[in-house]
Amino acid sequence: MPLGNSISQQTPHAMSPDIAMNAPDQAGAATGTLSRRGNSHALKKASAERFLDFNNRPATGPDMNVLRAKLGNAQVMSALSARSFVGPSSYFLNTAQVSAIPRLEIPVPERKLYVGYNRVSQQLSHIATTLYHVMTHETFLDKWNEGERGAINPIEIQLAVIGDKLHVSSNFHSDKLTRALHIALSTGAPNHSKALERTSNVDKHAVRAATCLRHFRKFHALAGASANQLKDAQTRLKTEIDRGMGVPSRTEGVSPEIIGKQGVKALETISRVLTEEAGKGFPSLVVHAPPTFERGPENALPPGVTETRHAEQNIEDDLARNAEAHFAQAIAELGLSKSDAVIVPMAGKFVACAVCAEAEKAMQAEGEGGVFAQDSEAYRFNLHRSGERIGHAYANEVQQLAAHALHPDQKRGIEKATTIRDNFVSAPSKTMAWKAPVAAAMIPNRTDSESEAFTDPQ
Ligand SMILES: [Zn+2]
Repeated sequence: MPLGNSISQQTPHAMSPDIAMNAPDQAGAATGTLSRRGNSHALKKASAERFLDFNNRPATGPDMNVLRAKLGNAQVMSALSARSFVGPSSYFLNTAQVSAIPRLEIPVPERKLYVGYNRVSQQLSHIATTLYHVMTHETFLDKWNEGERGAINPIEIQLAVIGDKLHVSSNFHSDKLTRALHIALSTGAPNHSKALERTSNVDKHAVRAATCLRHFRKFHALAGASANQLKDAQTRLKTEIDRGMGVPSRTEGVSPEIIGKQGVKALETISRVLTEEAGKGFPSLVVHAPPTFERGPENALPPGVTETRHAEQNIEDDLARNAEAHFAQAIAELGLSKSDAVIVPMAGKFVACAVCAEAEKAMQAEGEGGVFAQDSEAYRFNLHRSGERIGHAYANEVQQLAAHALHPDQKRGIEKATTIRDNFVSAPSKTMAWKAPVAAAMIPNRTDSESEAFTDPQ
């Protein structure tokens, strides 16, 4: 278990080419590469389904010869080698596969009221957006080394509170998160006009820029909060939980006292990191990085394709690998008994993407061995997200799934990851994202912290 804010990074994934070649969903890369050659007569004639079929079949047959003749051997070989880049617990969706998942378009949901445990979620979102802002916005360019300037983009950042520690991860550049927090805290409170925090422009970039400024200001309010302001927030959270407002799901049998106690401590942990720890190297901050990936010519990624494991799954993977140690530490810090569940609030810049939401659902299923199931003898963690909304699926990225968080037994974990992958690739109607509501318009002046409407599809 990583302690302090040292980076938790696993040993590189060495993927067996055998496993990779036998994976049933090699569709992705070859399609991505070949479909750009849209002027080929053969490709024009091929329906999307047929083309995907081709990618799922062994590299022989008449279609193969047609493609070789049209595209040249090098192009075809490059596409074929790219077929092997997914393994049993990773997946790849191309743009067509992502667009094949119908989403039910709805108006932007009502403004979310952040009460009870959602107060913790809201603060986590403000920190996530602020770190993103500091890592990507030109205002902070001179805070980074020359080689880093303009080259840092975490894409997504997620945070969780576990026991008395604040956990953070990002899809990319996790090694820069601690510095980003330093920079955010050492920069004076912003004095931009409030008008800049709202925009009448529905362009997603304008909306995001306004959101960053709003959250950056709220982050500074949080970092500058007095002991009395913290106490006020804690009292409100407790009162709201007592009244049944903002109560984490699946805590029906848990007393409000046990829930409130954990929420109060979570607010204190966040406050401690932001107000006391910058000069001490953030002893209560735990940073998680995606694993590193070793790739050779035989499974190289095609141009434009990235690879990672998403932020929340980096945290969930470590939680699962060291579940008993995390649990023992958390119940000691929170004053809980072994039979209590440790609530794990998790939030980020965006809601969980379609695949992370699917993985988290599997992690919560009772009797299935996931890290958030409530039936383990040894530990109990209860994931809390402030909403049920499901983000978009990402295209053109190889994504590793946190198999350990799906099941402690590696073989079972990989089987469950493979099922999630296969559903997204071949049977998307079996996924939660299928026809799931998604806000159709990006309406300005929203005050909630995340929205799938703002989720960058890439
Ligand atoms: Zn995700």
